[in-house]
Amino acid sequence: MEVPFGYLDRQFANIDSYLDAIKKLVQSCDFTLGAPVRELEERFTELSGMPYSVGVGSGTDALILSLKILGIGPGDEVVTTPNTFIATVGAIAMTGARPAFVDSNLDYTIDVSQIEAAITPSTKAILPVHYTGRPAEMDTIMDIARKYDLFVVEDACTAILAAINGRQVGTWGDTGCYSMHPLKNLNIWGDGGVIVTKSEDVYNKLKLFRNHGLKNRDEVLMFGHNSRLDSIQAVIANRLMEEDNVYSITDRRIQNAMTYDKAFSDLGEFISIPERPNNIKQVFHLYIIRVQDRNNLLRFLNESGIKAKVHYPIPIHLQKAASYLGYKAGDFPVAEEHSRISISLPCHQYLTDDEINYVIEKVHEFYLG
Ligand SMILES: *Cc1c(COP(=O)(O)O)cnc(C)c1O
Repeated sequence: MEVPFGYLDRQFANIDSYLDAIKKLVQSCDFTLGAPVRELEERFTELSGMPYSVGVGSGTDALILSLKILGIGPGDEVVTTPNTFIATVGAIAMTGARPAFVDSNLDYTIDVSQIEAAITPSTKAILPVHYTGRPAEMDTIMDIARKYDLFVVEDACTAILAAINGRQVGTWGDTGCYSMHPLKNLNIWGDGGVIVTKSEDVYNKLKLFRNHGLKNRDEVLMFGHNSRLDSIQAVIANRLMEEDNVYSITDRRIQNAMTYDKAFSDLGEFISIPERPNNIKQVFHLYIIRVQDRNNLLRFLNESGIKAKVHYPIPIHLQKAASYLGYKAGDFPVAEEHSRISISLPCHQYLTDDEINYVIEKVHEFYLG
């Protein structure tokens, strides 16, 4: 049996309704910041409960634009974790600011108990990542931000619909940043991102900044960027948010993860599953666990047709790109251990019961023979 990690072929096997919607857009010629972009922004406003949403070119741009609008740049430091996708750290570096790392916890988010030690007089912001779809500990992060007068930009790129006590991620910070990349839970046909915010001032600046700072055709208020969410991509995103689609995708992923959790409960000697507190809604962009003999398990599963993966074998502080920051092996032991012993199992919404059972069976076979 083949159990794929990706699912786009299954998801988009029937695309007629998408193509009909795109045809309508093309006939309207409403390409640049068109009606579909405004419609999507309204959907995000509703979903997040935040008053303002801005569609931008990608999740990475959502982070960069947020940091820039908050005035972050050369000479500033932004605290984040090395246990994330490269884009989080790249976004900080692209503003000219310096990424300052804090180790991960066992739930794959920033270890809040170590944040204060990383704060210096140059620190301007904390950038928590709701990595794997698991919310970071926002209440503690906000307490620290208030104490040191720091901005907070939430990287919710992998965490649409994740929540703490029913409150959506992305709604604590100055901004919350979402990605709609094809590999994310709300997945369009190219790049796109959305920023949500409660600040009217931030919103107004973001709308200018994503579109060259233009107030209108003839007047420019600030020099800016071109990072408009593409109207064609917004059409796809709107389709995926209709009929509760992103909601059912999320529910199905949670169900799959709970099935795995339960099935692996007899392998406690070999597998450690992150805690699953009742008040946390984790949306399982990745189903990621820490396992004994990871590399051999990975090879065994891959050879059995199961496309398990590692996110990621090299932690960011040890990447070549980060060498100028001066970190070394041993600086962030938990993140480094994640790189050595974590594995991501296929968890997507199109897995069949047979496929999930096959994964469970093969993992058992590896450890128990
Ligand atoms: C995907 C991702 C991003 C960047 O999103 P893009 O839309 O691909 O630019 C940022 N942070 C994290 C944690 C991500 O997984």
